[in-house]
Amino acid sequence: ADLEAEYERRTPTSKEHFEEARTYLPGGDTREVTYVDPYPTFVEEASGCTLTTADGEELLDFLNNYTQSVLGHAPPTVVDAVTERFARGNGLAAPTTEATELARRIVERVPSVETVRFANSGTEATMNAIRAAIAHTGNEHVLKLDGAFHGTHDTVLVGVEDEGRENPGVPTTVEERVSTVPFNDTKALVEAFERHGDDLACFIVDPIMGNAGMIPPREGFLETARDLTADTDTLLLFDEVMTFRMDPGGAQERYGIRPDLTAFGKFIGGGLPAGAFGGREDVMSVFDPATGSVTHSGTFNANPATMVGGAATLDALDGNAIERLNDLGATARERLEAVCADAEVPAQVTGDASFLNVHFTDDEVRDARTGTTHEAITERFSLAMRNRGVFVADRGLVNLSTPMGEPEIDALVDAVEGALADLSTAA
Ligand code: PLP
Repeated sequence: ADLEAEYERRTPTSKEHFEEARTYLPGGDTREVTYVDPYPTFVEEASGCTLTTADGEELLDFLNNYTQSVLGHAPPTVVDAVTERFARGNGLAAPTTEATELARRIVERVPSVETVRFANSGTEATMNAIRAAIAHTGNEHVLKLDGAFHGTHDTVLVGVEDEGRENPGVPTTVEERVSTVPFNDTKALVEAFERHGDDLACFIVDPIMGNAGMIPPREGFLETARDLTADTDTLLLFDEVMTFRMDPGGAQERYGIRPDLTAFGKFIGGGLPAGAFGGREDVMSVFDPATGSVTHSGTFNANPATMVGGAATLDALDGNAIERLNDLGATARERLEAVCADAEVPAQVTGDASFLNVHFTDDEVRDARTGTTHEAITERFSLAMRNRGVFVADRGLVNLSTPMGEPEIDALVDAVEGALADLSTAA
C-alpha cells in the first residue's frame, strides 16, 4: 500500500494549510513532535476523544496532546471552571486562593510533596526543580537518563538525541556538568555515583521512560536510585510530567518510591499551559520570597484560570477514574501484544497504566537505545494509523483518556492490526 499517496488523498486542505504555514513558521510547524512527513494533519476541533481535522475527517485521538488531555478534549467541568474564572479577571499580579486550592490537592495526593510552586510548562518545572537542587546541595553536577526528555532548557537537553542530532545550541559548559546513564542499567547507575556522587545536585528520572517509548522501570532500578541518592545527599527528582496520571499519588505511589522533588505538567493546568514542582519543605524553602535565595517568578505563574482548570481536572481524575483508565490500558496492552505477536513485522508493546507504545523490534526494550522510537518504520506506522482514522504519535506512543471505553479499544486494536499489515506489505 502506498501510505503517503493515501494520506495525501485524504488531507488536501491540511497540505494547503501547511504550504501557507511554511511561509511564516520555520518548517511550517511550531512543535518538533507534531511535524510528520510529508506534512502534519491540521486539526480544527476536538471533543471527547474525537478530533475533527481541517479535511473534515474525524480521528480517534490516542495521542491526547502527548498525555495532557487525560479527560479527553473540552471536558465540560473544566471548560466551565476556566471560562467562569477568566471572565472574572485573570493575570492579577497578586495571589489568589485558587493557587492554594490546586496546591492543596497536589500535596494531599502526593505524600513526598510538602509544598509546591507553579510555573507554565513541564520545561519550567524541571528547570526550577534542578535549580533548587543546585541551590540546596551546593553541587552543580546533574545526572539524568540517556535519551530522556524533560523539556527544552539546556541542562536536560544533554543526552537527548533526535535522529542523530545532538542539540547544537546547548553550551559545552552545560554539557560538562551533566552525565547520563541508560535507563534500567543498575550497574551503570552505581558506577555513575562512584564517579560523580560527591558532586551531584540531583538525579532526574522519568519513572517510566516516556520519550523513549513508555518503558517501565525494571525491578530494583528506582530503588537503587533512591538508595544511592540518599547515601550521597543527592536529591532524587522524579519527572512526573506524564506519569502523575498513573495513580492518585503518581508513579512514585505506584512504584513505591519517595523522591525528594517532583516535577508536574501536562494536565496540571486543565489544558492551559502549566507546570508545577514541589517536594521536601526544606528544599522548596529556597523559593520563600521573604527568606529564600532562588529567584522564581513568571507573569503567568499560578494564573487563576489555569489553577481552576487544574483543580477541576484533578477532581475528575479521582482514584476510580484512574483505576478504570488503567484497567482499560491493561486490556489494550494485552490485546495489542497478541496482534503484535501475529504480525509479519517485528513488533511489541511496552507500557503501564494508561500508557503504551508500539516498538518495531523483537529484542527486549529496556532503554532509549533498545526502543525504536525514531526509526522510519515508526513514522510509517503513525501514517498508516491516521489513514485508518486513529491519531497516535509518530514514535508509536498511545495513551488513553477517560471518555474512552471498550469500543475505542476495539477501534485501536483493529487499526493497529491493519497498520501492521500495511507495513508488512510496504516493507
Ligand atoms: N517531562 C516530560 C516527561 C515530558 O513528557 C515533557 C513534555 O512532553 C516535559 C517534561 C516538558 O513539558 P513541556 O512540554 O510542558 O515543557
